[in-house]
Amino acid sequence: MTKTKREVARRPASAAIPSGWEYAPAPESRDIVRVNESYGLYIGGGFVEPLSNERYTTIDPAREEPLSEIAQAGKADVDRAVKSAREAYAERWSNLRPSERAKYLFRIARLLQERSREFAVLESLNGGKPIRESRDVDLPLAAAHFFYYAGWADKLEYAFPNRTPRPIGVAGQIIPWNFPLLMLAWKIAPALAAGNTVVLKPAETTPLSALLFCDVVRQAELPPGVVNIVTGDGRTGAELVSHPDVDKIAFTGSTEVGKAIARTLAGTGKRLTLELGGKAANIIFDDAALDQAVEGIVNGIYFNQGHVCCAGSRLFVQESIYETVMAKLKRRMRTLRVGDPLDKNTDVGAINSKQQLDKIGALVQSGIDEGAEIYQPPCKLPERGYWFVPTVFTNVAQSYRIAQEEIFGPVLSVLTFRTPDEAIEKANNTPYGLSAGVWTEKGSRILAMAQGLRAGVVWANTYNRFDPASPFGGYKESGFGREGGRHGLEPYVQLDGE
Ligand code: NAP
Ligand code: MG
Repeated sequence: MTKTKREVARRPASAAIPSGWEYAPAPESRDIVRVNESYGLYIGGGFVEPLSNERYTTIDPAREEPLSEIAQAGKADVDRAVKSAREAYAERWSNLRPSERAKYLFRIARLLQERSREFAVLESLNGGKPIRESRDVDLPLAAAHFFYYAGWADKLEYAFPNRTPRPIGVAGQIIPWNFPLLMLAWKIAPALAAGNTVVLKPAETTPLSALLFCDVVRQAELPPGVVNIVTGDGRTGAELVSHPDVDKIAFTGSTEVGKAIARTLAGTGKRLTLELGGKAANIIFDDAALDQAVEGIVNGIYFNQGHVCCAGSRLFVQESIYETVMAKLKRRMRTLRVGDPLDKNTDVGAINSKQQLDKIGALVQSGIDEGAEIYQPPCKLPERGYWFVPTVFTNVAQSYRIAQEEIFGPVLSVLTFRTPDEAIEKANNTPYGLSAGVWTEKGSRILAMAQGLRAGVVWANTYNRFDPASPFGGYKESGFGREGGRHGLEPYVQLDGE
């Protein structure tokens, strides 16, 4: 029988809910954060009404309830933001002593730490991710990013010895909805450290943490116009990309939009970095510590509902341990708690939008239709909101859509291999090349695999581990340019000889 999309999402394979020990609700209070009824655009150091006069509603995807009315910036609004960034660049920011720039960045980092609970609640409310993750991952990493690049601001000549680094000008930055505040930090911190000013567009569905960040910018007394935030959908992004006075575009999002941006910018002389999709291989050898590897598999694909560009969405298991790994994985999946993102016990939260839920449902259906075997643990889902049960597919051929396309949801495709060479060949059989994971006891094998895998990041005996000092970025259709580390400064400086 073919399941409908809704049935796939709502009804896991077995209907029985495991009895016994149940977790009591442990909700984080949402009173700590105040959400305004509506927001303007943050331009020139304050909120202004959109000239477009257009607004849209942003919602809480776990409850399908409206949270706030958001400005849809049009062409004239984007122009105003770019002018403000240009003026701030010329008159204030680029001439400031680097050690002074550093002080502002340190201040922003400390304020993010101080207000982290408020930000974490807002991030979970607007994005659907579990509070445990926004509290323990997104917020600490966002603050760490500002601390890290604050440290570089007055040491740029050491980052690029004998090359006299200078800022570029105005950076246009466009970010996705999966890590709204963290992606903002990845974009804004290195740009400001190097002496540039920015106009940033958050994703349509998750603008609230970027708008709260404007309050941090105000508290830090950053000179007006150094950071400008324009909200809106893809049209706002497109206006920013094609604005003639933007010197650099930094984009994170889908490969499709990334390619469109590259076409628009070709021949303009504007700088571009693209961080796009992925279909990462997580490779488990028979000598790996299997219980740890299973934790790595779960973290690799079910972290942030699988809305992760570097998610370990293709699992490669060495044939001799296949049965054992699958049994352990399914057992572990039965312990995952899906539900209210604001509950501290929740492992898997809400899907970010109806549109994304439909996309996941369609790809899962294609997996069933093409002949893969689906497993979903028994799981009670809330009545309202967008949810998808953690899913694993076995019996997957490399040609299936679920093995080729980015699903961007809690869906894992399992394949097998016999030798390291076969693992490398299969892992590289994708248009993407963002990340990979290798699980083995042998150090030499880790190094050999890392050399053979065409991926920007290769994790060994861990997965989804981030550090501001470590560069991140892709090969092939996963994009180009690096964020994080000294490498992350490069797109934001002009060097002698360039
Ligand atoms: P997307 O459209 O590429 O969104 C990324 C950002 O670009 C958003 O701020 C988006 O605005 C903006 N944008 C959209 N069209 C644009 C255009 N023509 N010019 C400039 N900016 C534009 O991605 P999505 O629609 O949110 O998600 C679609 C798929 O992309 C997902 O299913 C997933 O496979 C992939 N994705 C990858 C990442 C990643 O981290 N690599 C992140 C998100 C999604 P809107 O918010 O209005 O779309
Ligand atoms: Mg889009």
